[in-house]
Amino acid sequence: MGLFSLLKITEAFCEKCQVVLPQEQLNQFDSTIRDEKDGGEYKSVCRNCLMDEFHNALKNFTFRAIMVHPLKKLDGMAYQYYPFQEMPEYEWTQEQIEEFKKFLPPEDAHCEECENHAQFNWCSPDIYFHDIFSQKINTTGEFSQEYLCSECLFKKFKEFIEKEDIYFNAEFFPPYDGDGLGTSFED
Ligand SMILES: [Zn+2]
Ligand SMILES: [Zn+2]
Repeated sequence: MGLFSLLKITEAFCEKCQVVLPQEQLNQFDSTIRDEKDGGEYKSVCRNCLMDEFHNALKNFTFRAIMVHPLKKLDGMAYQYYPFQEMPEYEWTQEQIEEFKKFLPPEDAHCEECENHAQFNWCSPDIYFHDIFSQKINTTGEFSQEYLCSECLFKKFKEFIEKEDIYFNAEFFPPYDGDGLGTSFED
């Protein structure tokens, strides 16, 4: 009985495919953006199902974005998307927002992998010196940046989190509503 209760505490189910997995490997997909957006969904899912949801969100995203490689070191891992027009609500200054915008792919950019239209800059966390909380932006641009279409961005993002064994147990906001920045964040 004791062992049974212990297992119940540490194991969890993916709400989509029902796979059993350790609690800390559940990802909190939230396209409601904490109830700010109509028509979104909140689900606790395994990494494969999270990537399916992310893939669908990318297909419906028509804007441009800087997507920073997720960091593993943060506790209560989150990956959040901020449309630039909403960033002032999160204490970013207009000057900082303008600096970020310079790293968007140009409107006519082509994917470095497949030549399709590139909506994304898949970018090193050097863009903020590996510390989102510093609120400092590396304006030199001397770090890894790849202009990618949504399919190639999806592939690289998925490969990256599988290789680094990253889970988003705090929350995961897919891109929505406008040009912006996707970044790791702590809960
Ligand atoms: Zn699943
Ligand atoms: Zn591509």
